[in-house]
Amino acid sequence: MTSSGGELRTTILDAGEAPQGKRLFGLSNEQLTDTLREFSLPPYRIRQLGDALYRQRVRTLDGITTWPRDLRERVARAGFQIGMPEIVQTFRSVDGTERYLIAGDDAQTVETVWMPEGDDSPQETDFSADDDGPAEPGAWSRATICVSSQIGCAVNCQFCLTARLGIIRNLSAGEIAGQVAAVLNRHGVEPGRDRINLVFMGMGEPFLNFDPFIAAVRLLVSEMGIPESRMTVSTSGIVPGILRFAQEPVRPRLAISLNASNNPVRETVMPITRKWDIDQIIDAVRKVPLRARERVTFEYVLLGGVNDQPQHADQLVKLIRRANFPAKVNLIAWNPGPDVPFTTPCPEEVAAFQQRLREQGIPAFVRRPRGRDIYAACGQLKKTVSSEPLVEIRERA
Ligand code: SF4
Repeated sequence: MTSSGGELRTTILDAGEAPQGKRLFGLSNEQLTDTLREFSLPPYRIRQLGDALYRQRVRTLDGITTWPRDLRERVARAGFQIGMPEIVQTFRSVDGTERYLIAGDDAQTVETVWMPEGDDSPQETDFSADDDGPAEPGAWSRATICVSSQIGCAVNCQFCLTARLGIIRNLSAGEIAGQVAAVLNRHGVEPGRDRINLVFMGMGEPFLNFDPFIAAVRLLVSEMGIPESRMTVSTSGIVPGILRFAQEPVRPRLAISLNASNNPVRETVMPITRKWDIDQIIDAVRKVPLRARERVTFEYVLLGGVNDQPQHADQLVKLIRRANFPAKVNLIAWNPGPDVPFTTPCPEEVAAFQQRLREQGIPAFVRRPRGRDIYAACGQLKKTVSSEPLVEIRERA
């Protein structure tokens, strides 16, 4: 994809163009059958392989203990490998958040964030959830994994560090689902037993890498056993992507990264608004069939003096009433980054904005920043490897 009106920058290299070897992780059952056709495997052998890849999350062919040794050896001799993405570097925040660099299919690394106790209150991340109550000290009762869909990003949001990278390339379905698998393995998480939420809010715009993103969602739901009700995807407002998303039978909850209450302000902070304005985005979202108790989230990064004034709150209320679908607002005080020319509103200003929305009947929540000290917070993912005052744990040389 090439640049368009300054909004989408540089050329995107699809993951399929990057060297991948003969990796099995990331393939659906149908793709596994096709890839391994030279072995004439009966369907139950493919099911055993899928179980080993996505439920047991084994790292080597030898770990597929339901397969006879002879079969594992033949598949290995033919050059196949599991190819589960590996965490190569970990940064741990004082608040327990961890940011990982995960090896991609080439020399690039992918960024993923683990947030014990989630990134928010439970009602904001799971429409089917009850409150679990307070966590044990040093333990976690629920956690959220923030997943990347691209390396870098072409959507030039002015407040976001990732935007500084431009787009480097798309991730494959295996690289997207693999981030989740690597983090689940690190923390010994079992979907079904443990409460886990996924947010596709890391590096990149998922709807500009739609097919791999949706393929990864299908793997995560049907093979890894994570319910779609525990997943949220955030888009900057890519209208064709929202319309495709509306047609998907298996889809996460939807969040719109809005960040402004009118088009002129949004154009200054999100130039992509010149391509699809707020009304076009709202019209597209109306086509998404919402499930019982589901609400669309409007994410709103508060930028001091830019979009955080009382009139902006009032415009936002009008905009959401006009949209006329179940919605809520997540407020995020801007997470500072070097050389990004914005200021962070103080907690009182954030609370006043929230109060003004709530007084007018709009559900509004303030998301507490997670992992700011390790550049893991919203809009901070930029492959940052400098670690002062970070805690850095090297996983692999
Ligand atoms: S906020 Fe999201 S869509 Fe915008 S540049 Fe950053 S990663 Fe891309």
